[in-house]
Amino acid sequence: MSQYEAVIGLEVHVQIKTDSKMFCSCANRFGGEPNTRVCPVCMGYPGVLPVPNKTAIMRTVAAGLLTNCEIAKFSKFDRKSYFYPDMPKNYQISQYDLPFCLRGNVHIEGEGFSGEDMGSRDIGITRIHLEEDVAKLTHLPGSSGVDYNRAGIPLMEIVSEPDMRTPNEAYAYLNKLKQIMQYAGISDCDMEKGQMRCDVNISVRKVGEEKFGTKIEIKNLNSFRAAHRSLEYEIWRQPQVLDAGGTLNQETRGWNDDRGETYLMRTKESDHDYRYFPDPDLMPVTLEEEDIEKIRATLPELPDAMRQRFVKDYALTEYDAKVLTQEKAIADYFETGVQLVNNPKTLANWIISELLRELSGASISIEECQVSGKQLADMIKLIENNTISGKIAKDVFAEMFKTGKDAPVIVKEKGLEQVTDTGAIEGLVDQAIANNHPQVQQYKDGNHKVIQFFVGQVMKLSKGKANPQMVVKMLKGKLDA
Ligand SMILES: [Zn+2]
Repeated sequence: MSQYEAVIGLEVHVQIKTDSKMFCSCANRFGGEPNTRVCPVCMGYPGVLPVPNKTAIMRTVAAGLLTNCEIAKFSKFDRKSYFYPDMPKNYQISQYDLPFCLRGNVHIEGEGFSGEDMGSRDIGITRIHLEEDVAKLTHLPGSSGVDYNRAGIPLMEIVSEPDMRTPNEAYAYLNKLKQIMQYAGISDCDMEKGQMRCDVNISVRKVGEEKFGTKIEIKNLNSFRAAHRSLEYEIWRQPQVLDAGGTLNQETRGWNDDRGETYLMRTKESDHDYRYFPDPDLMPVTLEEEDIEKIRATLPELPDAMRQRFVKDYALTEYDAKVLTQEKAIADYFETGVQLVNNPKTLANWIISELLRELSGASISIEECQVSGKQLADMIKLIENNTISGKIAKDVFAEMFKTGKDAPVIVKEKGLEQVTDTGAIEGLVDQAIANNHPQVQQYKDGNHKVIQFFVGQVMKLSKGKANPQMVVKMLKGKLDA
């Protein structure tokens, strides 16, 4: 499709982490027996009054500040009227023309980007508004179930400008939003629990054309990968329709992950169908400058800034710093341990190559890991002070990962202390020399590489515990004598 380019915009829904729901005191928690976390307010009984959740509003403002939005001093909630079983009131409390946050942007970096500045660009944020989540519907053969536990959970909708041109840009944008929300503790963004969901809008136009093509919306994408694949599919499908002389209608499509294709759900309703009007039960929200500044003061360091700081403060490579700041929990883990070790790079290597590999092998998150940042640092200290060799450390670490025990305990229990006693090492060196006359001759004939063979022999005799530097030094001394 060389003669077409895609125009992509995203609508991302993020559940906000709070104790209670948006307008009632029901717990905001995932799962549970269906319809057990409900009350007259979130079930829409007559005569009840909603009370807005202050934390949810503050976190929405925080999300706006972190994405460079203007924060509205005056905002209000509206009723979005529709008739569907996922909302018992027959309307959803949302925000229409006066959302909390407007006109922001998010910086993304990656591969497969469009434009001149390959690999780096800003994506505009149109608005962020706050609403209540809807119930979860489960469709079974012959019947459907509805669970209102999710109805009323505070939900942010983050609407982007149509600034993306490739699926990779959309993927990087989603990833960046997730990072920001997690760093700020606004949401865990656990997609398997539906805490982050996205709809994509995509149209295609001939390269060089200014006018946008007909917008197609793909709804309910529950993974970044699904978003990426559905965009690739539409970028393939839409030009084919146009090239065959067909026309595209504005419509909503679904994504079939197994078949790897989108399918028609319905032709799109306009905003008018929702009959928005200000919720008469809720007062408008006014924010003073000092309220906004108070929230600004609580904002965390963001991943890009942290990455740069890691490069500067700890002399890490860009790559290492990027891997370590991918998730806040990993960055925190590193920062806990780095205070305790001599060389930050050693700790970074252990986290990136050993810890992340073990975590992925066990399919657990770093929060679930039994080895804390301090424990890993304590193990590295054992290498730094020559108590154990780097090779033995790998076995020690594997044991720590399995049992959660401290490194010194494992080293003691298994007798893994490095042998640094000169007399003991000398005995092993003598033994290795005495057992291998041909190799001694080779060395004396000038083949100095054979020293590695002797190091191997001594390490074997010591069961990997001899200090390698001492072994090499002593071998040289004896063989050169
Ligand atoms: Zn409730």
